[in-house]
Amino acid sequence: MEHIYDAVIIGAGNGGLSAAAAMAKAGKKALLIEQHNLPGGFATSFVRGRFEFEPSLHMPCDVGPAENPGDLRKLIEHTFGVDIDWVNIPEAYRLITFEEGKNNIDVVMPFGIEEFTDEMEKQVQGSRSSVERFISLCEDVMAALAYIGASGGKADSKVLMKEHANFLKCGGYSVDTVLDALRMPKQAQKILCAYWCYLGIATNELNFTLFAAMLYKYLLRGGRIPRMRSHELSLAMDKRIRELGGEIWYNTKAEKILINEGKVVGLRTSRGEIKTSHIIACCSPHSVYGDLMDDIDVPEQQKRAVNARRIGARGFVVYLGLNKSAKELGLTSYSYFIYGTMDTAKETVNAKRFNEHPIQASICLNCAIPDASPEGTCIMSFTTLYNEDIWAASTRKNMSLKSAKLQPA
Ligand SMILES: Cc1cc2nc3c(=O)[nH]c(=O)nc-3n(C[C@H](O)[C@H](O)[C@H](O)COP(=O)(O)OP(=O)(O)OC[C@H]3O[C@@H](n4cnc5c(N)ncnc54)[C@H](O)[C@@H]3O)c2cc1C
Repeated sequence: MEHIYDAVIIGAGNGGLSAAAAMAKAGKKALLIEQHNLPGGFATSFVRGRFEFEPSLHMPCDVGPAENPGDLRKLIEHTFGVDIDWVNIPEAYRLITFEEGKNNIDVVMPFGIEEFTDEMEKQVQGSRSSVERFISLCEDVMAALAYIGASGGKADSKVLMKEHANFLKCGGYSVDTVLDALRMPKQAQKILCAYWCYLGIATNELNFTLFAAMLYKYLLRGGRIPRMRSHELSLAMDKRIRELGGEIWYNTKAEKILINEGKVVGLRTSRGEIKTSHIIACCSPHSVYGDLMDDIDVPEQQKRAVNARRIGARGFVVYLGLNKSAKELGLTSYSYFIYGTMDTAKETVNAKRFNEHPIQASICLNCAIPDASPEGTCIMSFTTLYNEDIWAASTRKNMSLKSAKLQPA
């Protein structure tokens, strides 16, 4: 095979679909290859019996309403021209904690800056001014991030110091440190940090600006999901890429990036070799530098960057199709964050042990899309986070029991 492309994009997840759409929109000859037989990666759906499950995306960030679009809607709709049916999520979250002998939390927090601030004041009297300071700081962070983004990597330090001083002041600190500095009552901090597990890092280590940008975007414009699961979005992207002149090959695995004298010249795939001068790899960097490239071709800086990373939290999800409606089961919220404690550092340590940690982000799809499943039924997913490779450790333990001819209790 001899095919010549401006760029070959590896992996048709959200990242690869966006990269391919951007290349095709710019008039480039682009080929997207995917090892699976359908698009989406994590952004897909699967069917069991009467139920079509959403495997991953609980709440894509910054879609926003059509009249006040967020960055994600702007990218998908305005830049790529992809129009799908987004459904509103009714509330930001319900947070439940169940620490033994402690003053536990059970609150439902709304979307909307004012609504959120009012509810927080109702839950924690005297918290209003600190939440207002937090929101104002979020606005400063968003303005600074917009400036840095628009500068195309050439942000002027003088402008940053003059116009975005608050961003610089809080940029190097953790969520806990900044919320303490804003004199936010501890109980309000606990309620405000419910989304911490979306970033998978305890709030005493999690960078404030990352958390602030995420929470602020959700509060400002609310949450939305595709009516027909994220597979709807992936299919619409596939269609649009082809309309824009891009090509997509499924059932095609990237095997080797071909490099000659330090320059990309092609890609070897399970369907043969393709000529190209650019590869956009939208799969794990470990796979790109470890499997798809020879060690000698990997820039030293990239090796160091990849090796410096710690493996983050892993998710484990249980999906249930239930033979009762959400109403019959007393489920009233879409997102339930259920934690043993809002001491997130403690939760992170507990997540290193197999039986102990209760971190849970649970979704009842029908609370956002009432007809997501047949009448009288509902769909739930329960996501928990683990740190370290405790599954491997538990397998090793079982194997050693077997080899010692012992039966587990
Ligand atoms: C339970 C869960 C809940 C989540 N909730 C949210 C949420 O609420 N909000 C949010 O924003 N994000 C959420 N996410 C994260 C989000 O789903 C992912 O970050 C995103 O979908 C990743 O897209 P990606 O394109 O980077 O990677 P992927 O979706 O992993 O796509 C990579 C693709 O590359 C393909 N590929 C890999 N290697 C090769 C190869 N050698 N040749 C060809 N193809 C290859 C794979 O088959 C795959 O299709 C959630 C994830 C999970 C698991």
